[in-house]
Amino acid sequence: MALRCISDLPDSDLAGKRVFVRADLNVPLTPARGVAEDNRIVASVPTIEYALKRGAKVIVASHLGRPDGVTPALSLEPVGARLAELLGREVMLTDEAIGDGARKVVADMRPGDVVLLENLRFFAGEEANDEGFSRQLGAYAEVYVNDAFGCAHRAHASTVGMLPHVPLRVCGLLLKREIEFLTRLLGQVAHPYWAVIGGAKVSDKIGVLDNLLSRVDGFVIGGAMANTFLKARGIAVGSSRVEENKLHLAREFLQRAQERKIEILLPVDAVTAPGLDAASTGVHKLSDIPAGEMALDIGPETTAGFVDRITRAKTVFWNGPMGVFEKPQFADGTLAIARAIASISGLTIVGGGDSAAAVHVAGVAKKISHISTGGGASLEFIEGRTLPGIAALEKV
Ligand code: ADP
Ligand code: MG
Repeated sequence: MALRCISDLPDSDLAGKRVFVRADLNVPLTPARGVAEDNRIVASVPTIEYALKRGAKVIVASHLGRPDGVTPALSLEPVGARLAELLGREVMLTDEAIGDGARKVVADMRPGDVVLLENLRFFAGEEANDEGFSRQLGAYAEVYVNDAFGCAHRAHASTVGMLPHVPLRVCGLLLKREIEFLTRLLGQVAHPYWAVIGGAKVSDKIGVLDNLLSRVDGFVIGGAMANTFLKARGIAVGSSRVEENKLHLAREFLQRAQERKIEILLPVDAVTAPGLDAASTGVHKLSDIPAGEMALDIGPETTAGFVDRITRAKTVFWNGPMGVFEKPQFADGTLAIARAIASISGLTIVGGGDSAAAVHVAGVAKKISHISTGGGASLEFIEGRTLPGIAALEKV
């Protein structure tokens, strides 16, 4: 069923109305409690501005981090300040997400006002999808807008529970864009279609690998999870981390890929070191990794092979860094892959929080068709699962 979007509403549904926007403003903070990286705030602005331009009173809500009850260090205060800068207007932060104070602030709003509710997760009712908490959130507004793709895989009060308590429910511009792009990866696309998968754990990605198996022409596999695939193929990986209890998953997947004649490219060399903080690093063929050293990035020969495949593709989905890219000495492989993906003229989509960060570090974000703001949510979407936050919007 087609989702109704805020842009499908007649302006009269927004003018003078109280519009609740569930945004995903869960951004990393600096130790001094500033916003370390504002991509998600920037991505939330178009929907808020859309409603403001039509004379709405906009109530923005989000969670931040994983608070345990009221946790002042996880106040949305710095986020509200950044949002105000981006919107060029005042953003009033409530003391709490619900309660008399917040209710009064919302009741006094005028068209064009923006109120930011304090961190939703200061109340256990948010994650518990509590009925009473949902009802109080729902009482704020005449229109509910879900623009928080990063939270769409969670059935929480602000993504699911409050919806029956608001008369009109639509998706925001960002959520719509996320669904449109990610849906394309599961439908008809231009071939060759390659998936580039990396990151930490096989178990995190096996659902994605499985659902893409019938769609792609091949997989490039790097990152720590490649070690498990290599071992499953009987290739030695030195002291690199292997998920021994996931070897069977890797073996079964390789078997299915072979039956379908889907190509799987695995690393042939690696940047190695005894540990993450080692003073020096080496480059070795996988069979020659010195005792006590582990693969922490793909090596130059692997990178060249991967880049060659990627640059000949017409559609690329990327999830998961090729190495420990947070450390400059292990970032080359991941950054080269990011540049290669950015260089092709076809459809390029990046999902996953760390991969999205790597694209920004590589400075090629503008050349990617779509960088998903959802980490876990984008993976669940590509796995083909129904996301509760989207399903709730589809209910009439
Ligand atoms: P995403 O957030 O894009 O889905 P993941 O969370 O699955 O990606 O994986 C990212 C993490 O994997 C990063 O913290 C990175 O340091 C780690 N990683 C990647 N390659 C390796 C490796 N070879 N050894 C150890 N950790 C790795
Ligand atoms: Mg991650």
